[in-house]
Amino acid sequence: MITIPFNRPCILGNEQAYILQAIANGHAAGDGSFTKKCHAFLEQQLGVPKALLTTSCTHALEMAALLLNLGPGDEVIFPSFTFVSTVNAFVLRGVRPIFADVRPDTLNLDERQLERLITPRTRAVVPVHYAGVGCEMDTIMAIAAQHNLAVVEDNAHGLFGKYRGRYLGTFGALATQSFHETKNFTCGEGGALLINDVQYIERAEIIREKGTNRSRFFRGQVDKYTWVDIGSSYLPSDLLAAFLYAQFEVHERIQGIRRRIWETYAVELRDWALRNGVQLPYVPDHCEQAYHMFYMLMPSLEVRQAFIAHLKAQGILAVFHYLPLHLSDMGRKFGGRVGDCPVTERISDQLVRLPFFNDLDESMQARVIEAVRSFQVRL
Ligand SMILES: *Cc1c(COP(=O)(O)O)cnc(C)c1O
Repeated sequence: MITIPFNRPCILGNEQAYILQAIANGHAAGDGSFTKKCHAFLEQQLGVPKALLTTSCTHALEMAALLLNLGPGDEVIFPSFTFVSTVNAFVLRGVRPIFADVRPDTLNLDERQLERLITPRTRAVVPVHYAGVGCEMDTIMAIAAQHNLAVVEDNAHGLFGKYRGRYLGTFGALATQSFHETKNFTCGEGGALLINDVQYIERAEIIREKGTNRSRFFRGQVDKYTWVDIGSSYLPSDLLAAFLYAQFEVHERIQGIRRRIWETYAVELRDWALRNGVQLPYVPDHCEQAYHMFYMLMPSLEVRQAFIAHLKAQGILAVFHYLPLHLSDMGRKFGGRVGDCPVTERISDQLVRLPFFNDLDESMQARVIEAVRSFQVRL
């Protein structure tokens, strides 16, 4: 029986009270008062011109593909080591995905591979800040500017992480956040689109509101609202925003808890990792990470599977992560082959993530650490 899960949702502040308040406000649909509070919070904290809550990060990525007018004939560059939605949201519009490998140290899109993947059809690049550690944004932004490519940051892991002192999610024309149950801040299912290039703001509001200019109508800028563009329903209920806002209110506490969990793992497992040929996460000096997860790279797939079984026997759930997308059924349809992204192919077999959630207390974490240390790799 699993007694320490990999992840679980928890209440940290006014979540329940705010949900009741949203109902009492008489506005449970989208864009009520809690949604507006969430928008203002993200805009002020990060210093972005516009933040819009969405029903998921997947949907924020779909909005990005629509805003950039991407379609058949266009190519977009992604890391192969990412969640399906990073890529699928663009493929849904007819985009051809081009898969880049990741760096062996941070597991982020390898910026040194970018230029050779660019063709006359390339329109955008989507870096993913894996584990909330920033990609090499100086290089990525420079290459993108030189080739006239849009940058969309998939910042699902990286809220409040920084690259050279600047918040992740503020570099690309667009960036996306996730508030899925497994992320640092959650409302079960949710996301946000961050808009740094202000030319996209007005159309983003329209696309998010079923292709109507309803947002302008609510602000009194037009006297009736109508169908003006393509779009869908990408706005979450204010009940979800109420839950999320309660988590935003205690964001410093949440990030403090996560920092403590991450640093405890790093300190307590350092000697064990050295003795056993296990690679712990690397955070470059110029990056402030978001403390999203604690992963380790085991020496091989066999050792990784034995390690997961070892923890499971002690009631602890540790999990692997992304399979290389270029080798998925869909990736292969786009020409992906073994050997295209050797680092991704290797590390996806080796990677394991330890339990990491906001109410993982010290005694639970001590149990996890003890269980990890009792596993010896026979090198
Ligand atoms: C979680 C995640 C997503 C998808 O988020 P949803 O909110 O579940 O749609 C996309 N990209 C990355 C990197 C993620 O980790």
